[in-house]
Amino acid sequence: MGRNKKYHNWPEEISKGHTNKFYHSTDWKKLREERLKLDKYKCQFFLGKWNDGKHFPDKIKLVEANTVHHIIPIKERPDLALDINNLISLSFEAHEIIEERQRWTWRKKKKLLTKERW
Ligand SMILES: [Zn+2]
Repeated sequence: MGRNKKYHNWPEEISKGHTNKFYHSTDWKKLREERLKLDKYKCQFFLGKWNDGKHFPDKIKLVEANTVHHIIPIKERPDLALDINNLISLSFEAHEIIEERQRWTWRKKKKLLTKERW
């Protein structure tokens, strides 16, 4: 192989529980960037263009997207981990709402990853 790039069978790796490795991979970083570009770096949740059927924006607003979320979680469907149609661009705030995370949970974390918040 050229460019000493290792081939990864991500569905298999993910089903073995190697999700962190996946989220740090070049394959993922490239694809999430593509999704962001398709969504013009705008949060699709707050634009009112996408929701998970459980959570809805209280107000439609234009917010920058910095997070790419798997619509069907990769643990459920590892085979859709790199399917661009299973991805959606969200703002950090929208993602917290969708994932039902409490503020104290993420504030407690020592290091917040800047780009790979999933
Ligand atoms: Zn997510």
